[in-house]
Amino acid sequence: MAENCLFCKIAAGEIPSTQVYSDDTYYAFRDINPGAPTHVLIVPRKHIARITDADPGDAELLGGLMLIANKIAAQEHLTDFRLALNCGPHAGQSVFHIHLHLMGGRDFSWPPG
Ligand code: 5GP
Ligand code: ZN
Repeated sequence: MAENCLFCKIAAGEIPSTQVYSDDTYYAFRDINPGAPTHVLIVPRKHIARITDADPGDAELLGGLMLIANKIAAQEHLTDFRLALNCGPHAGQSVFHIHLHLMGGRDFSWPPG
């Protein structure tokens, strides 16, 4: 757990959140400022600040993140949805603990803004 990391604290239950999924490796919760009817953030419990900090040893962890997204999409009855992962402030990353956005329940345009 990294000091002063919001998502480490949320995953540890030190800061409250609305849990959607939890296991030993991942935690998922509802975004506090949802951009869609369903907007879930999925985080590995392991602190990785940016996706570019991941190394080959994280391959299984990162693959598993996508499979958890599938599981949550099914749980939320979503067949169509968007997965997004922002890297760096210019791409919209505001919390530096990697998280996959799972958004659904409305139509999306491409490319995103
Ligand atoms: P990013 O901009 O880094 O890709 O995504 C960060 C997301 O975290 C944003 O969508 C923001 O609304 C959400 N967020 C920020 N602080 C909190 C919080 O304290 N609780 C929850 N549930 N979501 C948060
Ligand atoms: Zn963290």
